[in-house]
Amino acid sequence: MYVLAKLTGYRVNQEGTELKVFIPNINLQESIETKKMRNAGIWLDDGRHISAEQRKKAYATIADISRHTGYLPEEAKEWLKYLHIARTGCDYFSLSTCTMDTAREFINTLMEFAIEHGVILEDLGVNRTDDVSKYLYYCIKHRVCAVCGKPLSDIHHCEGSRVGMGNNRNRVDNKGRLLISLCREHHTICHNDELKFFEKNHVYGIVYNDEIGVEVS
Ligand SMILES: [Zn+2]
Repeated sequence: MYVLAKLTGYRVNQEGTELKVFIPNINLQESIETKKMRNAGIWLDDGRHISAEQRKKAYATIADISRHTGYLPEEAKEWLKYLHIARTGCDYFSLSTCTMDTAREFINTLMEFAIEHGVILEDLGVNRTDDVSKYLYYCIKHRVCAVCGKPLSDIHHCEGSRVGMGNNRNRVDNKGRLLISLCREHHTICHNDELKFFEKNHVYGIVYNDEIGVEVS
């Protein structure tokens, strides 16, 4: 069974941390006495809040979107939040108090909007995202270069054995390749030395599948 609990006390000793938890509205007497329930998995919500770095990325991308669309930054921020809510079903959130996970997902919404609508970013996309695999996925989906953001007509197929992600060599597309979206210029540079190119630009090939989305390569 999965229950929500509150931590009501703790004690640290040499062997670890003893926790006192309270589970509201549930009587566990039978489970504990008759069924001898003794073990529980525990997920600890560390409640980490949006980082300064994430906030910076979000505001910079909102500024670029506002410049592109003609909305004031404050207006753009609001409708982009509602776009994100519509997309994910999450609750309304604030960029000063939301969690790291919400911030990461919101930045994904901003990045996909920017890539899809050809918004010129004042920094490299890879520096703006908080989730590189998702970013690389959006670049393939909307056919823009993952390095410079230029629209393109061709998708680069990485050699699975050369991407430097040895532990994930099995995760390739149905033709046995990992993909990255690159313009002609970056495609040529990439072909000279794929591994070096990936390291320098902080990108890599991913498995791309229209239906299942993306798997990290
Ligand atoms: Zn490029």
